[in-house]
Amino acid sequence: MQLKKLGYKMSDVVAVITSHSHLDHMGNVEMFPNALHILQKRELYQAWWPEKFQRSSGAHIMADYDDARDFNYFALDGDLDVFGDGSITVLDAPGHTLGNSSLKLKFANGDTFVIAQDALWMRENLEGYPAGLNYSVKAYFETADRLKYMSDLENAELFFGHDEQQWKEKGNRWYK
Ligand SMILES: [Zn+2]
Repeated sequence: MQLKKLGYKMSDVVAVITSHSHLDHMGNVEMFPNALHILQKRELYQAWWPEKFQRSSGAHIMADYDDARDFNYFALDGDLDVFGDGSITVLDAPGHTLGNSSLKLKFANGDTFVIAQDALWMRENLEGYPAGLNYSVKAYFETADRLKYMSDLENAELFFGHDEQQWKEKGNRWYK
């Protein structure tokens, strides 16, 4: 839907960066059978054998991605500067899941954004209140610190994965 608004077809997408394997982030992955799929290798382990609490919570729906097993994966073990110019960097940001990733985007006009995805659900997570459903609370806090310091040092705006207030304030800038 959003791609269509921007004038693209599904088949125009050559690469898909997936933060993690929860249903609301990976649910449509099978719509991109010809793309290169970039994510942490640990997240593939997470997707294929989630912990019992993740399974019983309904956070993983394997039927959403079981036909994607033989897609073309670039399985990471850490950060990746996708184009080698710092414009798109996949950040290893575990805690929410075993291999969650966040993103740093640098635009030509100098604007920098850190897209936390579910590493931080909402602003209150920066203030010592962890989001729920974490693979590791320790890794979660280490990642939260990393993203906060990165956004402070690089004067980057930090975007949260599920912050309704921020979405209302900022989301319309991109999605008209
Ligand atoms: Zn999630």
